[in-house]
Amino acid sequence: MEIQQYISQLNEAQQAPVLQKDGPMIVIAGAGSGKTRVLTTRIAYLMSQGVDPFNILALTFTNKAAREMKSRIADIVGKSEAKNLWMGTFHSIFAKILRFEADKLGFPSNFTIYDTQDSVRLISSIIKEMQLDKDVYKPKQVLNRISSYKNSLITVRAYFNNPELQEADAMSKKPRLGEVYEKYVDRCFKAGAMDFDDLLLRTNELLNRFPEVLMKYQDRFKYILVDEYQDTNHSQYLIVKALSDRFQNICVVGDDAQSIYAFRGANINNILNFQKDYDGVEMYRLEQNYRSTKNIVEAANSIIDKNKVKLEKVVWTANDDGPRIKVHRSLTDSEEGRFVASTIFEHKMKEQRKNGDFAILYRTNAQSRAMEDALRKRDIPYRIYGGLSFYQRKEIKDVLAYLRLIINPKDEEALMRVINYPARGIGNTTLEKLTIAANHYDRSIFEVMENIDRIDLKLNSGTKNKLSDFVTMIKSFQVINESQDAFFLADHVTKKTGLVQELKKDATPEGIARIENIEELLNGIKDFIEGQKEVDGARGALSEFLEDVALATDMDKDTSDEDRVALMTIHLAKGLEFPYVFVVGMEEDLFPSAMSMNTRSELEEERRLFYVALTRAEYQAYLTYAQSRYRWGKLVDSEPSRFIEEISENYLEHLTPIQTGYKFKSMIDNDIFGDVDKSKYRQNKPVSGTPPKWATDDEPKPDANIRRLKPMSRSVPSGNSNMPDTKLAVGNVVMHERFGKGKVLNLEGVGADKKAEIRFDVGGIKKLLLRFAKLEVI
Ligand code: ATP
Ligand code: MG
Repeated sequence: MEIQQYISQLNEAQQAPVLQKDGPMIVIAGAGSGKTRVLTTRIAYLMSQGVDPFNILALTFTNKAAREMKSRIADIVGKSEAKNLWMGTFHSIFAKILRFEADKLGFPSNFTIYDTQDSVRLISSIIKEMQLDKDVYKPKQVLNRISSYKNSLITVRAYFNNPELQEADAMSKKPRLGEVYEKYVDRCFKAGAMDFDDLLLRTNELLNRFPEVLMKYQDRFKYILVDEYQDTNHSQYLIVKALSDRFQNICVVGDDAQSIYAFRGANINNILNFQKDYDGVEMYRLEQNYRSTKNIVEAANSIIDKNKVKLEKVVWTANDDGPRIKVHRSLTDSEEGRFVASTIFEHKMKEQRKNGDFAILYRTNAQSRAMEDALRKRDIPYRIYGGLSFYQRKEIKDVLAYLRLIINPKDEEALMRVINYPARGIGNTTLEKLTIAANHYDRSIFEVMENIDRIDLKLNSGTKNKLSDFVTMIKSFQVINESQDAFFLADHVTKKTGLVQELKKDATPEGIARIENIEELLNGIKDFIEGQKEVDGARGALSEFLEDVALATDMDKDTSDEDRVALMTIHLAKGLEFPYVFVVGMEEDLFPSAMSMNTRSELEEERRLFYVALTRAEYQAYLTYAQSRYRWGKLVDSEPSRFIEEISENYLEHLTPIQTGYKFKSMIDNDIFGDVDKSKYRQNKPVSGTPPKWATDDEPKPDANIRRLKPMSRSVPSGNSNMPDTKLAVGNVVMHERFGKGKVLNLEGVGADKKAEIRFDVGGIKKLLLRFAKLEVI
């Protein structure tokens, strides 16, 4: 197709930034308004105007997005031309450039890229070597801190030249953080390794220190385009700024309402300040949404309206009203999974839909388990994006390996996986000897181990004891399996083998997530046996469960071009679209996440995340929540997310009667929700005499044992706490646990309601309720 035809398919507002060949420009527009399409068409247009694809740099948020854009451009200009475009994520593009230029920075060109796990491990060992308390210097937290320094271009030297930063770390009880940072950078350098942040930081270093290199790339990238500009961090921002400085042919597109990576240092000001950064910036706005129905567009508008920090935008659509957003409540997360799976099944049947037309989006990866189980039962193929299928995760495979050994001790793969995990001092030499003997006697390794005293393998008695202890342990599990159900057994195994203790040593978020995954596995087993009991009153059902799971992993083999339902976190779904979208786990503490409700800005980021989720839907959106979820084999209740209530009823259709929860919302909206431990509010609530509200009186109320009211173990926070609020005065410099150092600008209210307005060095101005904010005057 001719380029003119492509351009003529765009509306006028979209054509303008496509046809402005030169100069700086920014397109700010809501979801689904064609920003990405403008970028794609613009690239094709530039090429049609004789711009060499080698001179075009396009930065996307995911590699998937880059691939898709490339293939669309190939449709217009031909494959061989499209191939020469520099198109990819910041990390992939600049890793490529760094390989060319590595020697200038003293790195080998085949430098290793450390992933987060590598980085955390390295930091842990540094902390250990320095004999620091790892409960104070939590490795993951330390890495986050280092990461935020790197993304703000604070190098080790800059750090040591900045007394305020050192002071702030000292105040948060980590006076030696700078040393850890220095050692970490040093060790990475010696190992010829860069972590993710280094790819950006070192690019900045390269462009700063070597003017000739900067000129070379400025000259190469005559045209620069950036998608999802709202999510660039400072380091990325500076790279774009440096590279585009010479020709100033820079086109960025973004939507402030979809900024969802502030927690990783993305800076929304990049979009707000763009006009100041370049001369003669053209600002374009797109208002027509082509993706979604009226119901979805308007509901999404009504959500984002609740945010205070935003650019005012118009988003409308000429599309049909479409069906209302369907809201569904279920009793448990597995029922939620079944609802989603059967709804997908019905749509497929009635409307001849493909699996690929459906997406299931969740806030946290652990939620995929219930969805996977339900989809499998319905024989609906699915694909998990970002992250392994639940049953392929290492910690899950470890538990499953023990369970497999109980059922079949000859299972060699399972044995090898766990014989020395957690570590029991059974080394590789021993394993080699066992394998040789097993081959010689034509027996399984486990059988060799059972007879270890009768075979001369030249093992010392210590090793022999370790092997027979392992055998005894597995046999004891087999005995339990005779009399107890699979949930009891699995729970016992995770404890007795030391697996859970092993994981508990790792207090990083990843470590905690692994324990949560094991918890999820146990919940899954519990669900499974409950189901089995219903069918045939089966007691154990371990082997059936394992078979079920084995088939699940079989189905997950790479099948990228097959037609599958997409499962992913909302963060990963940015920029994508699907006819049907299920946003699951719409519950308080899950979405919005319990960890993101401490400040207004965190809550607003969660709300933007919800906006992103909803605007992925082209035709029909479902919001589902469960009244209770299994945690460690126990039902824990949950309330519907405030986000559901925030959508006007005009756009909703309730498939189940409405349940309303506590109104945390009003507290947040009072703007005093500074740094509040939310659990206190929960306990506070019954005292203030407000019972949970139910929409209608004939609405079934939950069982007493799954009622939301938690035991009143802690007292209600009161005004005369031990906080130095009475002594606090305007002008005081204070230290806050989370926000660091700040200056008191204003005080208002009295007693329990006393609030302080504080300008923090990092994070800006916040209003905190003094009875909660732990402030120290310094
Ligand atoms: P997001 O903010 O979610 O990234 P976006 O602004 O990048 O969204 P696109 O993905 O470019 O929006 O476009 C949304 C959908 O609308 C796509 O399917 C795109 O092909 C289609 N679209 C965009 N512009 C037009 C148009 N002028 N005519 C028809 N379809 C269009
Ligand atoms: Mg887009």
